[in-house]
Amino acid sequence: MRIWRPVITGFQAIIVLVLAVGASVIGAATLPGGAWWGLLPAVVGIALLARKPLRRWRVARRTFPQERCDWLADRVPFYAQLGESERRRFERDVQFFLSEQRFEGVKGASLTDELRLSVAAGAALLLHGRPDWEWPTRRTILVYPDRFDDTYHESAFASLDGMIHAQGPIIFSKKAIEKSWSDAHDGDNVVLHEMAHVFDTLREGASGTPSFLNPRSAESWRGIVQEEMEKASRGSSLLRPYAASSPGELFAVAVENFFEKPGALADRHSELYEALSAFFNLDPRPVEEGMDV
Ligand SMILES: [Zn+2]
Repeated sequence: MRIWRPVITGFQAIIVLVLAVGASVIGAATLPGGAWWGLLPAVVGIALLARKPLRRWRVARRTFPQERCDWLADRVPFYAQLGESERRRFERDVQFFLSEQRFEGVKGASLTDELRLSVAAGAALLLHGRPDWEWPTRRTILVYPDRFDDTYHESAFASLDGMIHAQGPIIFSKKAIEKSWSDAHDGDNVVLHEMAHVFDTLREGASGTPSFLNPRSAESWRGIVQEEMEKASRGSSLLRPYAASSPGELFAVAVENFFEKPGALADRHSELYEALSAFFNLDPRPVEEGMDV
C-alpha cells in the first residue's frame, strides 16, 4: 500500500481541473464573481484528494511499537526474514490496515491489540509483494468469541471459524484468529484463508480465480485449480481435503499453505506454487531455500 498513488491521483486531479475550468467559464459568463467560481471545485477537489494521503502520511510517521515488532518476528516467518527497509514497509501496511478497517467484537468478544495485529498481519503479508495494490475493500471485521454456524449463532455444533460475504463483513472466531499464527508452519490459518476469499470475491462469487489476476493467466490458472482439486479429492495433496470442496476453497487453502508450508508446496505442487508466487509477486520460502523475498 502506498501513501499516495500517482496515477490515480493524477487522473483525479485532471477531473478536478476540468470541473474548475468549467465552473470558471460558466461563472465568467453568467454569475457575479465571474471566473473566480472556478476556485470552488478546485479547493474542494484538492481537499478531497489530499485527505487520504495526508492521513496515511500521519499514520506512517507513528512509531511502530516494539511489542508489535516482536510479535511479528515471533509469529510471521516471512516478516522475520525481511531486511530492515522491507520490515518498515510491512509495518506501515499493518498501520494502514489498522487505521482504515473497522473491528467489532460481537457476543462479548473482546478485541485486543494482538487480535487486531493478527488480522492486519495477514493483509500485510498478502499485499507485500505488490506495493501498488490496496487492500481491496473497506469492511467491518466482526469477531465472535468462538465458532459460529451459518445463521451466526454459536452452538456445540457450530463449525465455522471464519466467513466472508461478497459485500459484507469478514467474520472470524476469536479462538481461530488466536490459533492462526500459533503454529506458522501447519498450513492452517483462518486469517489468510478468509483474506484469500476477499481477493476471490470482488467481482463474482468465489470462483477460485482471484480478481486481480492478469486475464492472460486466467485459463492456465483455472486448469491448475482443477487439477489440484482432483488431487485433493483423491487425498494425494498437501492441501487438506476441504480444498476439494470448491475452486474458491482450493484457492483459500492453497494460500494458507503457500505462506505456511512454502517449501513443501513448491516441492509437491510446483505449478500451483509458481502460479501463487507470480500472483503475489513473492517467494515466501526461507531465503536459503527459495529464490528471494
Ligand atoms: Zn473458505
